[in-house]
Amino acid sequence: ETVTMEKIVSFCKRRGFIFQSSEIYGGIRSAYDYGPLGVEMKRNVKDEWWRTMVHTRDDVVGVDAAIIMHPRVWEASGHVGTFNDMLVESRTSGRRYRADHLIEAATGRDDIEGLSAEEMTEIIQTDERVKDPLDGGRDFAPVRPFNLMFETYTGPVKSPENIAYLRPETAQGIFTNFKNVLDTSRVKVPFGIAQQGKSFRNEITPGNFIFRTREFEQMEMEFFVEPGTDEGWHEYWLEERWRWYTDLGLNPDNLRRYEHPKEKLSHYSKRTVDIEYDFPFSGWSELEGIANRTDYDLKRHAEFSGQKLEYRDQQANRSYVPYVIEPAVGVDRITLAFLVDAYREEEVEGETRTVLKLHPRLAPVKAAVFPLTKKEPVSTVAKKLYDDLKGDYRIAYDDGGSIGRRYRRQDEAGTPFCVTVDFDTLEDKQVTIRDRDTMQQERIPIEAVRDRLKA
Ligand code: ATP
Repeated sequence: ETVTMEKIVSFCKRRGFIFQSSEIYGGIRSAYDYGPLGVEMKRNVKDEWWRTMVHTRDDVVGVDAAIIMHPRVWEASGHVGTFNDMLVESRTSGRRYRADHLIEAATGRDDIEGLSAEEMTEIIQTDERVKDPLDGGRDFAPVRPFNLMFETYTGPVKSPENIAYLRPETAQGIFTNFKNVLDTSRVKVPFGIAQQGKSFRNEITPGNFIFRTREFEQMEMEFFVEPGTDEGWHEYWLEERWRWYTDLGLNPDNLRRYEHPKEKLSHYSKRTVDIEYDFPFSGWSELEGIANRTDYDLKRHAEFSGQKLEYRDQQANRSYVPYVIEPAVGVDRITLAFLVDAYREEEVEGETRTVLKLHPRLAPVKAAVFPLTKKEPVSTVAKKLYDDLKGDYRIAYDDGGSIGRRYRRQDEAGTPFCVTVDFDTLEDKQVTIRDRDTMQQERIPIEAVRDRLKA
Protein backbone atom coordinates (compact mmCIF):
# COMPACT_ATOMS: atom_id res chain seq x y z
CA GLU A 1 0.00 0.00 0.00
CA THR A 2 1.35 3.43 -0.90
CA VAL A 3 1.73 6.11 1.69
CA THR A 4 -0.72 8.93 1.07
CA MET A 5 -0.18 12.53 2.02
CA GLU A 6 -3.23 12.41 4.33
CA LYS A 7 -1.72 9.47 6.17
CA ILE A 8 1.63 11.21 6.71
CA VAL A 9 0.02 14.50 7.77
CA SER A 10 -2.28 12.84 10.30
CA PHE A 11 0.51 10.58 11.56
CA CYS A 12 2.78 13.61 12.05
CA LYS A 13 0.07 15.40 14.00
CA ARG A 14 -0.98 12.40 16.10
CA ARG A 15 2.58 11.61 17.18
CA GLY A 16 3.74 15.20 17.67
CA PHE A 17 6.10 15.47 14.72
CA ILE A 18 4.49 18.37 12.84
CA PHE A 19 1.48 20.60 13.52
CA GLN A 20 -0.31 23.17 11.41
CA SER A 21 0.84 26.64 12.52
CA SER A 22 -1.64 28.72 14.56
CA GLU A 23 -4.02 25.78 14.55
CA ILE A 24 -6.22 27.13 17.35
CA TYR A 25 -7.02 30.05 15.03
CA GLY A 26 -7.87 27.81 12.11
CA GLY A 27 -4.32 27.62 10.85
CA ILE A 28 -2.42 29.67 8.29
CA ARG A 29 -1.67 28.33 4.86
CA SER A 30 1.80 26.99 4.24
CA ALA A 31 3.16 27.30 7.77
CA TYR A 32 3.98 24.41 10.06
CA ASP A 33 5.38 23.90 13.54
CA TYR A 34 7.57 21.02 14.67
CA GLY A 35 6.40 19.22 17.80
CA PRO A 36 8.40 17.34 20.47
CA LEU A 37 9.42 14.44 18.19
CA GLY A 38 9.68 16.53 15.01
CA VAL A 39 12.03 19.08 16.53
CA GLU A 40 14.42 16.31 17.64
CA MET A 41 14.38 14.73 14.19
CA LYS A 42 14.89 18.04 12.38
CA ARG A 43 17.83 18.88 14.67
CA ASN A 44 19.31 15.47 13.91
CA VAL A 45 19.02 16.10 10.15
CA LYS A 46 20.81 19.44 10.57
CA ASP A 47 23.44 18.00 12.90
CA GLU A 48 24.18 15.16 10.49
CA TRP A 49 24.64 17.62 7.64
CA TRP A 50 26.92 19.82 9.75
CA ARG A 51 28.90 16.82 11.01
CA THR A 52 29.46 15.52 7.48
CA MET A 53 29.94 18.85 5.71
CA VAL A 54 31.96 20.72 8.36
CA HIS A 55 33.23 18.75 11.37
CA THR A 56 34.58 15.66 9.61
CA ARG A 57 36.34 17.74 6.94
CA ASP A 58 39.54 19.80 7.02
CA ASP A 59 38.45 22.15 4.26
CA VAL A 60 35.07 23.56 5.32
CA VAL A 61 34.21 26.20 7.95
CA GLY A 62 30.83 27.59 8.99
CA VAL A 63 29.12 30.97 9.32
CA ASP A 64 25.75 32.12 10.61
CA ALA A 65 24.73 35.31 8.83
CA ALA A 66 21.80 37.70 9.39
CA ILE A 67 18.49 37.17 7.62
CA ILE A 68 18.04 40.87 6.81
CA MET A 69 21.03 42.06 4.80
CA HIS A 70 21.92 45.31 3.00
CA PRO A 71 19.38 45.73 0.13
CA ARG A 72 22.23 46.15 -2.36
CA VAL A 73 23.13 42.48 -1.76
CA TRP A 74 19.96 41.46 -3.59
CA GLU A 75 20.63 43.82 -6.47
CA ALA A 76 24.10 42.38 -6.89
CA SER A 77 22.87 38.79 -6.64
CA GLY A 78 20.23 39.42 -9.29
CA HIS A 79 17.30 38.62 -7.00
CA VAL A 80 15.67 42.06 -7.21
CA GLY A 81 15.54 41.84 -10.98
CA THR A 82 15.12 38.17 -11.77
CA PHE A 83 13.98 36.12 -8.76
CA ASN A 84 10.54 35.64 -10.26
CA ASP A 85 7.99 32.92 -10.74
CA MET A 86 5.47 33.13 -13.57
CA LEU A 87 2.03 34.00 -12.23
CA VAL A 88 -1.25 33.52 -14.07
CA GLU A 89 -4.67 34.57 -12.82
CA SER A 90 -7.87 32.79 -13.80
CA ARG A 91 -10.57 35.33 -14.71
CA THR A 92 -13.32 32.83 -13.94
CA SER A 93 -12.37 31.83 -10.37
CA GLY A 94 -9.99 34.65 -9.49
CA ARG A 95 -7.41 32.05 -8.40
CA ARG A 96 -3.72 32.61 -9.03
CA TYR A 97 -1.44 29.80 -10.20
CA ARG A 98 2.16 29.26 -11.11
CA ALA A 99 1.88 29.20 -14.90
CA ASP A 100 4.55 26.52 -15.43
CA HIS A 101 2.93 24.20 -12.87
CA LEU A 102 -0.53 24.75 -14.39
CA ILE A 103 0.68 23.91 -17.91
CA GLU A 104 2.78 20.94 -16.83
CA ALA A 105 -0.08 19.41 -14.82
CA ALA A 106 -2.53 19.83 -17.72
CA THR A 107 -0.29 18.69 -20.56
CA GLY A 108 2.22 16.33 -18.96
CA ARG A 109 5.04 18.45 -20.44
CA ASP A 110 8.15 18.98 -18.34
CA ASP A 111 9.89 21.61 -20.46
CA ILE A 112 7.94 24.68 -19.36
CA GLU A 113 9.99 26.09 -16.46
CA GLY A 114 12.34 28.71 -17.85
CA LEU A 115 10.09 29.85 -20.71
CA SER A 116 9.22 33.55 -20.91
CA ALA A 117 5.90 35.03 -19.76
CA GLU A 118 4.92 35.56 -23.40
CA GLU A 119 5.69 31.95 -24.34
CA MET A 120 3.64 30.64 -21.41
CA THR A 121 0.73 32.98 -22.24
CA GLU A 122 0.81 31.66 -25.82
CA ILE A 123 0.63 28.02 -24.66
CA ILE A 124 -2.19 28.73 -22.22
CA GLN A 125 -4.22 30.50 -24.90
CA THR A 126 -3.75 27.84 -27.58
CA ASP A 127 -3.65 24.53 -25.68
CA GLU A 128 -7.23 23.51 -24.87
CA ARG A 129 -6.06 21.13 -22.16
CA VAL A 130 -5.02 23.99 -19.88
CA LYS A 131 -8.00 24.74 -17.64
CA ASP A 132 -8.58 26.31 -14.25
CA PRO A 133 -8.44 23.24 -11.96
CA LEU A 134 -11.10 24.85 -9.77
CA ASP A 135 -13.89 25.47 -12.29
CA GLY A 136 -12.61 24.26 -15.67
CA GLY A 137 -12.57 27.83 -17.02
CA ARG A 138 -10.26 28.83 -19.89
CA ASP A 139 -10.13 32.59 -19.45
CA PHE A 140 -6.73 33.60 -18.11
CA ALA A 141 -5.02 36.98 -17.78
CA PRO A 142 -1.59 37.22 -19.46
CA VAL A 143 1.22 35.51 -17.53
CA ARG A 144 3.43 37.92 -15.59
CA PRO A 145 6.61 37.59 -13.56
CA PHE A 146 6.10 37.79 -9.79
CA ASN A 147 9.04 38.54 -7.48
CA LEU A 148 9.28 36.02 -4.63
CA MET A 149 11.15 38.14 -2.11
CA PHE A 150 9.36 39.22 1.06
CA GLU A 151 9.70 42.95 1.61
CA THR A 152 9.81 44.73 4.90
CA TYR A 153 11.07 48.04 6.28
CA THR A 154 13.91 48.74 8.64
CA GLY A 155 13.28 51.45 11.20
CA PRO A 156 10.10 53.35 12.00
CA VAL A 157 9.61 55.06 8.63
CA LYS A 158 7.94 53.04 5.89
CA SER A 159 9.56 54.79 2.96
CA PRO A 160 11.11 53.31 -0.20
CA GLU A 161 14.68 53.96 0.95
CA ASN A 162 14.04 51.82 4.04
CA ILE A 163 12.93 48.73 2.13
CA ALA A 164 14.68 45.56 3.16
CA TYR A 165 14.20 41.93 2.21
CA LEU A 166 14.00 38.68 4.11
CA ARG A 167 16.69 36.54 2.49
CA PRO A 168 15.37 34.11 -0.14
CA GLU A 169 18.52 31.97 0.15
CA THR A 170 21.35 31.70 2.65
CA ALA A 171 24.09 31.68 0.01
CA GLN A 172 24.54 35.46 -0.19
CA GLY A 173 25.49 35.67 3.50
CA ILE A 174 28.38 33.38 2.59
CA PHE A 175 29.59 35.40 -0.41
CA THR A 176 29.44 38.67 1.54
CA ASN A 177 31.64 37.07 4.23
CA PHE A 178 34.13 35.56 1.78
CA LYS A 179 36.79 38.18 2.59
CA ASN A 180 36.14 38.04 6.33
CA VAL A 181 36.66 34.30 6.37
CA LEU A 182 39.81 34.52 4.23
CA ASP A 183 41.25 37.21 6.51
CA THR A 184 40.47 35.48 9.79
CA SER A 185 40.90 31.76 9.22
CA ARG A 186 43.64 29.72 7.62
CA VAL A 187 41.58 28.38 4.72
CA LYS A 188 43.22 27.79 1.34
CA VAL A 189 41.47 27.15 -1.98
CA PRO A 190 39.88 24.65 -2.41
CA PHE A 191 37.72 25.32 0.66
CA GLY A 192 34.08 25.70 1.60
CA ILE A 193 31.87 27.86 3.81
CA ALA A 194 28.70 26.26 5.14
CA GLN A 195 25.56 27.77 6.61
CA GLN A 196 22.18 26.66 7.93
CA GLY A 197 19.22 28.94 8.51
CA LYS A 198 15.80 30.23 7.61
CA SER A 199 14.97 31.53 4.14
CA PHE A 200 11.75 33.11 2.90
CA ARG A 201 10.02 33.02 -0.48
CA ASN A 202 6.57 34.33 -1.19
CA GLU A 203 5.66 31.21 -3.17
CA ILE A 204 2.54 31.59 -5.34
CA THR A 205 1.45 28.02 -4.71
CA PRO A 206 2.98 26.51 -1.61
CA GLY A 207 1.88 22.97 -0.91
CA ASN A 208 2.48 19.30 -0.33
CA PHE A 209 2.78 19.80 3.42
CA ILE A 210 6.33 20.87 4.36
CA PHE A 211 7.67 20.27 0.83
CA ARG A 212 7.05 23.86 -0.31
CA THR A 213 6.39 26.56 2.28
CA ARG A 214 6.95 30.31 2.38
CA GLU A 215 9.25 30.10 5.38
CA PHE A 216 11.72 27.25 5.37
CA GLU A 217 15.18 26.27 6.47
CA GLN A 218 18.14 25.77 4.18
CA MET A 219 21.57 24.21 4.42
CA GLU A 220 23.99 25.54 1.83
CA MET A 221 27.70 25.23 1.30
CA GLU A 222 29.77 27.30 -1.12
CA PHE A 223 32.91 25.45 -2.13
CA PHE A 224 35.53 27.76 -3.66
CA VAL A 225 37.84 26.22 -6.25
CA GLU A 226 40.41 27.25 -8.83
CA PRO A 227 38.79 27.91 -12.24
CA GLY A 228 39.47 24.92 -14.47
CA THR A 229 39.06 22.47 -11.58
CA ASP A 230 35.36 23.32 -11.15
CA GLU A 231 33.91 20.52 -13.28
CA GLY A 232 35.79 17.83 -11.35
CA TRP A 233 34.72 19.31 -8.02
CA HIS A 234 31.13 19.48 -9.22
CA GLU A 235 31.19 15.74 -9.91
CA TYR A 236 32.84 15.16 -6.52
CA TRP A 237 30.06 16.98 -4.65
CA LEU A 238 27.34 15.19 -6.63
CA GLU A 239 28.73 11.90 -5.39
CA GLU A 240 29.31 13.09 -1.82
CA ARG A 241 25.78 14.39 -1.48
CA TRP A 242 24.24 11.24 -2.97
CA ARG A 243 26.24 9.17 -0.52
CA TRP A 244 25.01 11.30 2.41
CA TYR A 245 21.40 10.35 1.70
CA THR A 246 22.06 6.66 1.19
CA ASP A 247 24.37 6.47 4.25
CA LEU A 248 21.44 7.82 6.26
CA GLY A 249 19.28 5.00 4.98
CA LEU A 250 17.31 6.62 2.15
CA ASN A 251 16.36 3.95 -0.38
CA PRO A 252 18.51 4.59 -3.50
CA ASP A 253 15.66 3.29 -5.71
CA ASN A 254 13.76 6.44 -4.69
CA LEU A 255 16.63 8.76 -5.66
CA ARG A 256 17.77 10.00 -9.05
CA ARG A 257 19.81 12.76 -10.63
CA TYR A 258 18.15 15.38 -12.80
CA GLU A 259 20.40 17.33 -15.13
CA HIS A 260 19.08 20.85 -15.87
CA PRO A 261 19.04 21.48 -19.64
CA LYS A 262 21.73 24.00 -20.61
CA GLU A 263 19.27 26.54 -22.05
CA LYS A 264 17.27 26.70 -18.80
CA LEU A 265 20.03 27.24 -16.28
CA SER A 266 19.76 30.09 -13.75
CA HIS A 267 21.62 33.24 -14.72
CA TYR A 268 24.58 32.35 -12.50
CA SER A 269 24.94 28.67 -13.36
CA LYS A 270 27.20 26.74 -15.71
CA ARG A 271 25.70 23.37 -14.76
CA THR A 272 23.06 22.33 -12.22
CA VAL A 273 22.13 18.81 -11.20
CA ASP A 274 19.31 18.10 -8.76
CA ILE A 275 19.01 15.10 -6.49
CA GLU A 276 15.35 14.10 -6.74
CA TYR A 277 13.21 11.88 -4.55
CA ASP A 278 10.20 9.87 -5.74
CA PHE A 279 7.53 11.03 -3.28
CA PRO A 280 4.53 8.65 -3.26
CA PHE A 281 2.13 11.61 -3.57
CA SER A 282 3.89 13.93 -6.02
CA GLY A 283 6.41 11.82 -7.93
CA TRP A 284 9.98 12.87 -8.65
CA SER A 285 10.71 16.17 -6.90
CA GLU A 286 13.83 18.16 -6.09
CA LEU A 287 15.47 17.56 -2.72
CA GLU A 288 18.71 19.35 -3.42
CA GLY A 289 20.30 21.41 -6.18
CA ILE A 290 24.03 21.15 -6.81
CA ALA A 291 25.15 24.05 -8.97
CA ASN A 292 28.33 25.32 -10.52
CA ARG A 293 27.82 29.03 -9.79
CA THR A 294 31.10 29.98 -11.47
CA ASP A 295 32.63 33.29 -10.33
CA TYR A 296 29.32 35.10 -10.88
CA ASP A 297 28.49 36.00 -7.27
CA LEU A 298 31.95 37.09 -6.13
CA LYS A 299 32.41 39.22 -9.26
CA ARG A 300 29.00 40.86 -8.87
CA HIS A 301 29.62 41.65 -5.20
CA ALA A 302 33.06 43.02 -6.06
CA GLU A 303 31.44 45.26 -8.68
CA PHE A 304 28.58 46.45 -6.46
CA SER A 305 30.60 46.89 -3.25
CA GLY A 306 33.83 48.20 -4.76
CA GLN A 307 35.76 45.68 -2.64
CA LYS A 308 38.37 43.30 -3.98
CA LEU A 309 36.98 39.77 -3.62
CA GLU A 310 39.85 37.62 -4.82
CA TYR A 311 41.97 34.78 -3.59
CA ARG A 312 45.73 35.20 -3.39
CA ASP A 313 47.59 31.99 -4.17
CA GLN A 314 50.88 32.54 -2.29
CA GLN A 315 52.73 29.65 -3.88
CA ALA A 316 51.84 30.48 -7.47
CA ASN A 317 52.11 34.17 -6.65
CA ARG A 318 48.90 35.13 -8.41
CA SER A 319 45.38 36.29 -7.56
CA TYR A 320 42.14 35.07 -9.04
CA VAL A 321 38.39 34.93 -8.43
CA PRO A 322 37.48 31.35 -7.45
CA TYR A 323 34.66 29.37 -9.02
CA VAL A 324 31.98 28.06 -6.65
CA ILE A 325 30.27 24.68 -6.37
CA GLU A 326 27.09 24.88 -4.27
CA PRO A 327 25.11 22.00 -2.77
CA ALA A 328 21.85 23.62 -1.54
CA VAL A 329 19.16 21.75 0.31
CA GLY A 330 15.94 22.42 2.22
CA VAL A 331 15.87 20.91 5.73
CA ASP A 332 12.07 20.59 5.85
CA ARG A 333 11.93 18.99 2.43
CA ILE A 334 14.47 16.28 3.21
CA THR A 335 12.95 15.71 6.65
CA LEU A 336 9.71 14.89 4.80
CA ALA A 337 11.62 12.53 2.48
CA PHE A 338 13.28 10.75 5.42
CA LEU A 339 9.89 10.43 7.16
CA VAL A 340 8.07 9.07 4.11
CA ASP A 341 10.92 6.69 3.28
CA ALA A 342 10.95 5.28 6.82
CA TYR A 343 7.18 4.94 7.29
CA ARG A 344 5.91 1.33 7.30
CA GLU A 345 2.73 -0.46 8.19
CA GLU A 346 3.51 -4.11 8.90
CA GLU A 347 1.39 -7.12 9.78
CA VAL A 348 2.60 -8.60 13.05
CA GLU A 349 0.63 -11.49 14.57
CA GLY A 350 -2.59 -10.34 12.96
CA GLU A 351 -2.17 -6.73 13.99
CA THR A 352 -0.88 -3.70 12.11
CA ARG A 353 2.26 -2.20 13.50
CA THR A 354 3.21 1.30 12.36
CA VAL A 355 6.94 1.77 12.51
CA LEU A 356 9.38 4.47 11.44
CA LYS A 357 12.53 2.72 10.28
CA LEU A 358 14.66 5.82 10.63
CA HIS A 359 18.44 5.64 10.68
CA PRO A 360 19.42 5.69 14.39
CA ARG A 361 21.27 8.99 13.85
CA LEU A 362 18.03 10.61 12.68
CA ALA A 363 15.68 8.95 15.18
CA PRO A 364 14.23 11.56 17.56
CA VAL A 365 14.70 9.26 20.56
CA LYS A 366 17.59 6.79 20.64
CA ALA A 367 16.28 4.44 23.32
CA ALA A 368 13.37 4.02 25.70
CA VAL A 369 13.75 2.62 29.21
CA PHE A 370 10.81 0.60 30.60
CA PRO A 371 10.46 -0.63 34.17
CA LEU A 372 8.31 -3.80 34.03
CA THR A 373 6.44 -2.38 37.03
CA LYS A 374 6.09 1.08 38.55
CA LYS A 375 7.01 -0.42 41.93
CA GLU A 376 10.39 -0.20 43.64
CA PRO A 377 13.05 -1.44 43.39
CA VAL A 378 12.51 -2.27 39.69
CA SER A 379 11.55 1.35 38.94
CA THR A 380 14.54 2.67 40.91
CA VAL A 381 16.95 0.61 38.81
CA ALA A 382 15.21 1.70 35.58
CA LYS A 383 15.26 5.35 36.62
CA LYS A 384 18.97 5.12 37.38
CA LEU A 385 19.68 3.65 33.92
CA TYR A 386 17.62 6.45 32.36
CA ASP A 387 19.45 9.12 34.36
CA ASP A 388 22.84 7.64 33.42
CA LEU A 389 22.07 7.74 29.69
CA LYS A 390 20.07 10.92 29.26
CA GLY A 391 23.01 13.34 29.24
CA ASP A 392 24.47 11.62 26.19
CA TYR A 393 21.39 10.60 24.24
CA ARG A 394 17.77 11.59 23.89
CA ILE A 395 16.14 8.85 26.01
CA ALA A 396 12.48 8.22 26.81
CA TYR A 397 11.22 6.80 30.09
CA ASP A 398 7.86 5.07 29.85
CA ASP A 399 6.13 3.15 32.63
CA GLY A 400 2.55 3.34 31.32
CA GLY A 401 0.56 0.35 30.05
CA SER A 402 1.66 -3.09 28.91
CA ILE A 403 5.15 -3.61 27.52
CA GLY A 404 3.50 -4.41 24.15
CA ARG A 405 1.78 -1.03 24.05
CA ARG A 406 4.96 0.71 25.05
CA TYR A 407 6.82 -1.03 22.20
CA ARG A 408 4.14 0.15 19.78
CA ARG A 409 4.49 3.78 20.91
CA GLN A 410 8.28 3.68 20.44
CA ASP A 411 7.99 1.96 17.04
CA GLU A 412 5.86 4.87 15.85
CA ALA A 413 8.41 7.35 17.16
CA GLY A 414 11.17 5.47 15.33
CA THR A 415 13.07 4.65 18.56
CA PRO A 416 15.75 2.06 17.63
CA PHE A 417 15.99 0.37 21.06
CA CYS A 418 13.76 -0.39 24.01
CA VAL A 419 15.37 -1.52 27.26
CA THR A 420 13.24 -3.29 29.87
CA VAL A 421 14.20 -3.64 33.52
CA ASP A 422 12.39 -6.56 35.22
CA PHE A 423 12.53 -8.61 38.42
CA ASP A 424 15.39 -10.78 37.12
CA THR A 425 17.45 -7.62 36.64
CA LEU A 426 17.58 -7.27 40.43
CA GLU A 427 19.38 -10.65 40.59
CA ASP A 428 21.45 -10.95 37.39
CA LYS A 429 22.03 -7.24 36.60
CA GLN A 430 20.83 -7.88 33.04
CA VAL A 431 18.16 -6.13 30.97
CA THR A 432 16.17 -7.03 27.86
CA ILE A 433 17.08 -4.92 24.84
CA ARG A 434 14.68 -5.04 21.91
CA ASP A 435 15.51 -4.03 18.35
CA ARG A 436 12.92 -1.88 16.52
CA ASP A 437 13.39 -3.44 13.09
CA THR A 438 13.87 -7.14 13.84
CA MET A 439 11.82 -7.05 17.06
CA GLN A 440 14.42 -9.48 18.45
CA GLN A 441 14.99 -9.39 22.19
CA GLU A 442 18.27 -10.07 23.89
CA ARG A 443 19.52 -10.16 27.48
CA ILE A 444 22.58 -8.01 28.03
CA PRO A 445 24.33 -6.70 31.16
CA ILE A 446 22.97 -3.36 32.28
CA GLU A 447 26.51 -1.92 32.05
CA ALA A 448 26.65 -2.85 28.34
CA VAL A 449 23.64 -0.72 27.34
CA ARG A 450 25.63 2.46 26.75
CA ASP A 451 28.13 0.73 24.46
CA ARG A 452 25.32 -0.93 22.55
CA LEU A 453 23.71 2.45 21.90
CA LYS A 454 27.02 3.94 20.85
CA ALA A 455 27.59 1.09 18.40
P1 ATP B 1 11.81 24.65 -6.58
O1 ATP B 1 12.13 24.45 -8.04
O2 ATP B 1 11.27 23.43 -5.90
O3 ATP B 1 11.03 25.91 -6.28
P2 ATP B 1 14.40 25.84 -6.38
O4 ATP B 1 15.10 25.16 -7.50
O5 ATP B 1 13.88 27.21 -6.54
O6 ATP B 1 13.21 24.88 -5.85
P3 ATP B 1 16.75 26.34 -4.90
O7 ATP B 1 16.73 27.80 -5.10
O8 ATP B 1 17.71 25.50 -5.65
O9 ATP B 1 15.27 25.76 -5.09
O10 ATP B 1 16.87 26.08 -3.33
C1 ATP B 1 17.65 25.02 -2.80
C2 ATP B 1 16.80 24.07 -1.98
O11 ATP B 1 16.01 24.78 -1.02
C3 ATP B 1 15.79 23.27 -2.77
O12 ATP B 1 16.39 22.12 -3.33
C4 ATP B 1 14.79 22.89 -1.71
O13 ATP B 1 15.21 21.74 -0.98
C5 ATP B 1 14.81 24.08 -0.79
N1 ATP B 1 13.64 24.94 -1.06
C6 ATP B 1 13.54 25.90 -2.01
N2 ATP B 1 12.33 26.51 -1.95
C7 ATP B 1 11.66 25.92 -0.93
C8 ATP B 1 10.35 26.10 -0.36
N3 ATP B 1 9.52 27.04 -0.81
N4 ATP B 1 10.00 25.31 0.67
C9 ATP B 1 10.83 24.37 1.16
N5 ATP B 1 12.08 24.16 0.67
C10 ATP B 1 12.49 24.91 -0.37
